[in-house]
Amino acid sequence: MKTYQRFPLDLVKGKGCWVWDEKGEKYLDAVAGIATCSLGHSNRALIKSLSKQLRKLQHVSNLYQIPEQEELAQWLTSNSFAKSAFFCNSGAEANEAAIKLARKYGHIKRNIDNPIILCSKESFHGRTLAAVSATGQPKYHNGFEPMVDGFKFFSYNDNESFKNLFDGLEKTGPKIAAVLIEPIQGEGGINVGEKSFFQLIKAKCTENNVLLMFDEVQTGMGRTGTLWGYEQLGIEPDVFTLAKGLGGGHAIGALLVNQLADVFQPGDHASTFGGNPFACRAALTVGREIQKRKLLIKITERGIQLKEGLINLSLKYSDIFFSTRGIGLIQGLVLKDNKKITSLDIVKSALEEKLLLVSAGAKVLRIVPPLIITKKEINELLSRLDKCLMKLS
Ligand SMILES: *Cc1c(COP(=O)(O)O)cnc(C)c1O
Repeated sequence: MKTYQRFPLDLVKGKGCWVWDEKGEKYLDAVAGIATCSLGHSNRALIKSLSKQLRKLQHVSNLYQIPEQEELAQWLTSNSFAKSAFFCNSGAEANEAAIKLARKYGHIKRNIDNPIILCSKESFHGRTLAAVSATGQPKYHNGFEPMVDGFKFFSYNDNESFKNLFDGLEKTGPKIAAVLIEPIQGEGGINVGEKSFFQLIKAKCTENNVLLMFDEVQTGMGRTGTLWGYEQLGIEPDVFTLAKGLGGGHAIGALLVNQLADVFQPGDHASTFGGNPFACRAALTVGREIQKRKLLIKITERGIQLKEGLINLSLKYSDIFFSTRGIGLIQGLVLKDNKKITSLDIVKSALEEKLLLVSAGAKVLRIVPPLIITKKEINELLSRLDKCLMKLS
C-alpha cells in the first residue's frame, strides 16, 4: 500500500552503526531503525542469544508459563520502580494497554462513569485508533474521524494550560482517570520535559488519585543516558510503556505498573504474540548488554559530545538553525521558522553524504543513533552533517 514515502535506498547489510546498500555503499546510521536498534546492527550478543533461542523455542502463546517472559519481567521490575509487567508487540499496543488500564482503574477504583485521560497537544502515542486519539497533533487524525472519546489536551511544558484543564475538569467533571505523557516528546520535535512542569503534574495526580502514565516508548531503555526517562525528571509515574529500544530491533512492547497489578483480571486484556520467548530473549539481551558494557555512562558522554557538536553546527549555520534540543542519544536540531529549508531537505542531502538521519516534524532534525556509537563515529556523524549543511547553505 502507499503507506510510506520511502527513500530510494535498499539496505541489505549492517554492522554496528553502519549499513550497506545493494551497491556496496556504506552509510553511517543515525536513525537506528527509528531509535530501536539499541545495540547496533548484527550485534554479537544478540546473534548468539537469539540463534540459541530459535533452536530452543520461539512461540507458545500466553496459555502457558513462559520462563523467558518471567525472566524479562524480573529484569524490568528489579531495574525500575515497577512491580509487574504486561507484554505486547509495539509502542501503540503498549499505550493501548495503558489506556485500557486507566479506564478500568477509573471505573473500578474511583467509580468514574466516563473516565478522561489528559494528553499533550504535541504528543505522539502511536497509530492504533485509541493511541492516535491520545495523540494531540491533528495531522495524525485527519481522515480517521471520529476519534475515540475520552481524551482532553493541554500544552506541553505549559503549567497554566495543564492547571486550567485539570482544575476545570476536577471541578465540573467528567472526572480524570489518568495523565498520559512523554518525558521527552520524540515525534513531536524532541521537546524535553521541564522538571517544574512534571512536578506540577505529579503533585496534581497524587492529590486527586489520578494515574500518571509515561509513554517511554522512545525514551526508555537507556536512550537518555539513564535506563528510564523518568529518572531524568526526578519523579516516578505510576505506569510506563516501552517498545522501540526494548528489543534492539525486534518487536516487543511492555506496560509496566507499580501498584496496579490487580486492575486487569484474567480475560480483560491479551496478546497472541506478546511476550513470546524469542522477543523476550532479545529484550533480556539488550538489557544485560547495557549493564555489562556500562552503556549508560557512555551514552551520557556521547550525548554531551554530540550536543557540543550540534551547538557548534547551529552557530555555524545560524541562518538555518534556531537551537538544539535533547539529552543523551536523543537529540534534535531545530530549524528556523522563516526558512524555506525543511528537515526533510537536510535528511535527503545527508543521504548523499552517506549519513542516515530522520526528521521529527517539518522543523526538527532528529539524531537517534545506536546506543553503542563511539566517540570517533560521533565525530564522523558531525563532519558528514557539516558537509551536507555547507552544500545546503
Ligand atoms: C514510536 C512511538 C510510539 C508508537 O510505537 P509503534 O511501535 O510504532 O506502535 C508511541 N509512542 C512514542 C513516544 C513513540 O516514539
